[in-house]
Amino acid sequence: MTDAHASPFSGPPLKLFNSLTRELEIFQPVHPGVPGDPANPPEARVYSCGPTVYNYPHIGNMRAYVFADTLGRTLSFKGYKLTHVINITDVGHLTDDADAGEDKMEKMAAEKAQSIWDIARHYTEAYWADVKALNIRQPAHWSIATDYVPQMIEFAKAIADRHCYELEGGLYFDTSTVANYGALARAKTEDGEGRIEEVEGKRHAADFAIWRKTPPGETRQMEWDSPWGKGAPGWHLECSVMSEALLGFPFDIHTGGIDHREIHHPNEIAQNQAHSCSDASGARIWMHNNFLIERSGKMSKSAGEFLRLQLLIDKGYHPLAYRLMCLQAHYRSELEFSWEGLGAALTRLKRMLKFIEVQRWKEHEKTGQPVRSQKDAKPLPRSEWHRFAILGYLGDFEAAISDDLNTPKALPIIEAILGDSAISLTDRWEMIATADEVLGLNILRMDRADLRVRPKVATISEAEIEAALTRRKEARAAKDFAASDKLRDELIAAGVEVMDGDPLGWDWRLGD
Ligand code: AMP
Ligand code: ZN
Repeated sequence: MTDAHASPFSGPPLKLFNSLTRELEIFQPVHPGVPGDPANPPEARVYSCGPTVYNYPHIGNMRAYVFADTLGRTLSFKGYKLTHVINITDVGHLTDDADAGEDKMEKMAAEKAQSIWDIARHYTEAYWADVKALNIRQPAHWSIATDYVPQMIEFAKAIADRHCYELEGGLYFDTSTVANYGALARAKTEDGEGRIEEVEGKRHAADFAIWRKTPPGETRQMEWDSPWGKGAPGWHLECSVMSEALLGFPFDIHTGGIDHREIHHPNEIAQNQAHSCSDASGARIWMHNNFLIERSGKMSKSAGEFLRLQLLIDKGYHPLAYRLMCLQAHYRSELEFSWEGLGAALTRLKRMLKFIEVQRWKEHEKTGQPVRSQKDAKPLPRSEWHRFAILGYLGDFEAAISDDLNTPKALPIIEAILGDSAISLTDRWEMIATADEVLGLNILRMDRADLRVRPKVATISEAEIEAALTRRKEARAAKDFAASDKLRDELIAAGVEVMDGDPLGWDWRLGD
């Protein structure tokens, strides 16, 4: 391995698990550039399969974007110029990933008696609100599938003769025309049992539609003219076309949830092989996050409680507690959602913020001087790291995230830095600012008040709580414990948990 392929900086190389080889691989960029040359920087180009905007995303879907964001932040941290694309699927995704059933968007539009465009706009905005709340960085491009239909038709035309056949329902991709179809899924070509609804005339179970014709006599809300008649593109086609249009061919990393490893991504790869007349899969590395599950099984938008991020917020959990919950597990492990687990993540986040405040308060007590706010701390440029090399924290942090984004191992390092009283506060804040560029927890930017999200059901205002607590403090100071207990009971009845003995007066929280 040459140096050009190691991290542009002197740190350890970035190792990522490639689903294609099922092995950890050192990230070797397609565009290695020249480290240190701003005109030709080492690049990382990443495509993430985005949401189908027919409904609100559930928090499991959002795990996929927290993962993609952590990857993007890590690549930036390692010195690569990142170009990240997330697509918005507003056409073509059927109720069954393997091209059976109805278009999810058409179905929801019919149910709600609204136009597909309105449905797409509403749920795209809801998704973007979750992205923002989870402190997921904006990608360079949000590519909207319906903006790329002419390019999709051109792509399909280019592969139609050699790789496709036409049926009544549309243009189908013949999966036997490419080498090693399904290698990513480790599936055999004919292993389509239970995967695909019968489509009359299909040559192989795994063959899939790249263009779906509008049935005669019907009009779809979304349809375009094509050499195969009026219709709409297949879902798999979209990602092949948009990734190449925005990132080139091949690009570096393609991400998605683990379900995409089985059908969607093998189909993208087959199309890419056909279009490039080669065995190139399109991306050098394919990465998949594992599922967020519920105790009862897979998370779903229809069964049981619909776990949207907004529901968590309504119940009084700050969205970044959910981000922390995701980071506490490795992205390749299944993560079971529970309210207790989320509560524990919130407590962990609160502890960090509280610790920062306690340290500032102590410093102020000691020196009698105003203490610089942690909010002003900036990440340390690499050239400054040597100042802290002896402490090892930043090196350990980088080693953890460079090891296939080992965030569970990286997180306690933040807590260790916070708690190391041998380091000045300013230095601690700078080290944390540096690490938090990767974790995105906003540790230094939030106040404890930010974490006190108000549950929707709360019957008491914050001003009323503060006023009652002041009265209670006065009662206690006057040793009127009967009055103090009465006030406490009233607060508990209103859902406020009072925490006595908090040196910062961080002494209440609204219960769940
Ligand atoms: P969709 O909107 O269904 O296309 O899904 C958006 C993203 O969420 C895809 O990358 C899926 O693979 C991923 N995904 C779906 N369900 C889960 C889950 N329960 N946990 C983690 N990722 C998921
Ligand atoms: Zn995709």
